[in-house]
Order: sequence, then C-alpha cells, then structure tokens
Amino acid sequence: MNAGDRVRARRADTTYEGVLLPSSSEEHLVLKLDGGYNVGVEREHAEVEVLDPGVYEIGGESEGDSEVAFDDDLPTVSLISTGGTIASTVDYRTGAVTAQFDAEDVLRAVPDLAGLANYRGRVVANILSENMTPEIWRDLARAVFEEIEAGADGVVVMHGTDTMQFSASALAFMLDTPVPVVFTGSQRSADRPSSDNVMNAVCAVEAAKSDLAEVLVCMHATESDDRCALHRGSRVRKNHTSRRDAFETVGRKPLAEIDYGSREITVRREHATRGERDPALSPDLEADVELLKYTPGTGPEALSIAEDSAGLVIEGTGLGHVHTDWIPRIEELVESGTPVVMTSQCIEGRVCDRVYDTGRDLLEAGTIEAGDTLPGTAKVKLMWALANAESVAEVDETMRTDLAGELTERSVPWS
Ligand code: GLU
Repeated sequence: MNAGDRVRARRADTTYEGVLLPSSSEEHLVLKLDGGYNVGVEREHAEVEVLDPGVYEIGGESEGDSEVAFDDDLPTVSLISTGGTIASTVDYRTGAVTAQFDAEDVLRAVPDLAGLANYRGRVVANILSENMTPEIWRDLARAVFEEIEAGADGVVVMHGTDTMQFSASALAFMLDTPVPVVFTGSQRSADRPSSDNVMNAVCAVEAAKSDLAEVLVCMHATESDDRCALHRGSRVRKNHTSRRDAFETVGRKPLAEIDYGSREITVRREHATRGERDPALSPDLEADVELLKYTPGTGPEALSIAEDSAGLVIEGTGLGHVHTDWIPRIEELVESGTPVVMTSQCIEGRVCDRVYDTGRDLLEAGTIEAGDTLPGTAKVKLMWALANAESVAEVDETMRTDLAGELTERSVPWS
C-alpha cells in the first residue's frame, strides 16, 4: 500500500474511501476523501483494502514539468495555499505536503481558471484556519513578498474562512504591495452542489489581475453565484457561520465588487493602484498580545490575563466602556508598560471615551482609543506596532493612525 493508492478503510461501523496521502504515519492513515476533506484513520483498528493502486501520482516533481504552456499575453498569478476548504480543491494531487504545485495541478482542480492567467503555486501551510498562528503569518507574508519580487502580477491566498480576517489584517500591516494580494476561501466544500469554491477562486484571480493593489478578501457578495465582493482585508468580518455571503465590510459597502458573468469590477472608493508602492516587508510581530471582551459579571481579575503580556486590547461596551472596578487594574497595567487599547463590541461605530465619566476615567488611566478599528484587527495591529515602534508613545500614536484602511478618520461618533 502506497501514497497515491485509492483505498477503502473500515473501522467499526464506518467505511472511508479515498486516496492515501503521504502524510500518513505509523499510527494513522490519512485519506483524501472525494469531497476534498482529509480524514485520519487509526491503522491498528482499521481493515484496509487497496482498490486502485497508484491512482494518483502524489508529490511528483511539480515544478518545471507542467504541460501547461506559459502564455506571454497573460499575467502571472501566484496561488498560495494555507489550507481550509478552498485549498483542498487544489491540493488533491499534491496532498498538500509538497511545497509547490504547478499550473497543471491548478487547472486540473479548477478548470474554470484556464485562460485567465499563468499560474505559480506554493504551499505555506495545510491547516484549518482556527490553527493559524502569528508564526505562519510571518511565513505567509514572506512567501507573498517573494512572489511579488519574483514578478507575480497578483497573488491569491487560499485560506480557511474562520480566521481569514485576522490573516488579511496581518498581511495588510506587514506588506507594502504594488500588486493585489487577494485572500479567498470557501464556505461549502467542493463535493456540494452549493459549493462557492469555483466562483470565489475565479473572481479572486480576476481581482489579482486588477488595479486594486491592496490586501483584499474576495468572497460571495450574495447567496447566488452572481458576484463577489472585494473587501479591504483590515475592515472585513465573517458574520455568518455558513452562508456563502458570510463576509461583510463593517460600516460601509465593500471596496469593490466583481460580476461573475462579465468579470467587470466596480470600484466604490479610492484605493492604492498597481505599481504605486514599492514592495516592502516588515514581518515582525509581538505575538504576546491578548484580546479581552468585557461583559457584565466579569470582574477585574480577568485582567490578570494581560499581566505578563506585551499588550492588551479590550472589547468594551458601547462607546468603549468597562465596569468601573476594572479601571484601577487597567491603570496598573499601563503604568507597568503594557499598552491597553480600547475597541467596541458594537459591530459598527467608533469608541469615544470623552462622553461619559467611565470613558474619561479610562482615558485618564491611559487607555488608547482605537477609533473604529475592529477588535480583531486592533489585536493584530498592536502585535505589529509593538514589534515595529521604538517606544510606548510610538505604539500609542500608531494605534491612533490609519495604516491600511483599518481606521476611518471621522472623530465624532454622531457625524
Ligand atoms: N474551520 C475551517 C477553517 O476556517 C472551516 C473550513 C473553511 O472555512 O475553509 O479553516
């Protein structure tokens, strides 16, 4: 039995059929099921039968042996895979254990991408996105930067949907990009008729060829297969567990939309344009930052989570409040050199701590207001600011300054 064989594994009442992946270990077999998902089966208790030996050539030398001709008239798009449902569509042949895949692999997985671009492929991780870490953000930012330096006209990052907004924010802070960097994912796996993977992948490639030289998230704009929204990576939020149009730009319409039929892109606001910025990478992050949500009944002892941390973001109530019992502990944290940043758990609007006494006391205690920066984005930004600023004052200044579209400039909450 070898990697690439189609096998049937029976364990107790469950039977799996799929392709054996090279990531199998002595204890576990890993099968790629027909729907694209990987499943682990304990060898000891499984009865395994080879149905079709060598049905898939796995982990072959991808680079350089593609039979897909390079077309000088087409732009080159780099596809970077981190895992999640969308990547399982493309990783079928490679088993996502090889570091690279080629145009042939891409087109076999999503034939609709043919003729849109020349493709380069690269695997940075093969994880469900709940397992994403700041270390992988660094690897991803480096990989994107290298692809840009190597001449990619655009980059598509395939990512699980759960934490896509955090990764997109991280890259928005870490990279200056002269080309589009487009995150895309899939809410429904490839085996389901309602899968969104093909339209999202096609629209992401079209966006990667466009003039929108920003870090974007490209996902279904509606429940239908009619158009995708292009959200700014630093302003987007997954707002539904399962709908195909789960992603929304908070507080406004998305930056742009792309029509799946005509492939026309409608842009709503100003944006960085292709070639406007030189590529630059600042991949350092201080990973030791906490995000704490205040709700009634949570006492100030909850703040001990941040005692040994480099920074804390609070998701406060309304305009940015917490129980007044929290304020002395917050002041102690600030005095000990831990920046404390205030955001709001309201989905829309900005914090403003000059309106009520609690807010004024929080400001006196030294909290930094993050305006309308989304709490998750504020956490990533604080990680970036702590690693890149020279002083606490500079961290403070950075958190109040818009760097990547995460903070809108209006300062009055009712305007
Ligand atoms: N929890 C998975 C993830 O975010 C869901 C699958 C997906 O969204 O691709 O990776």
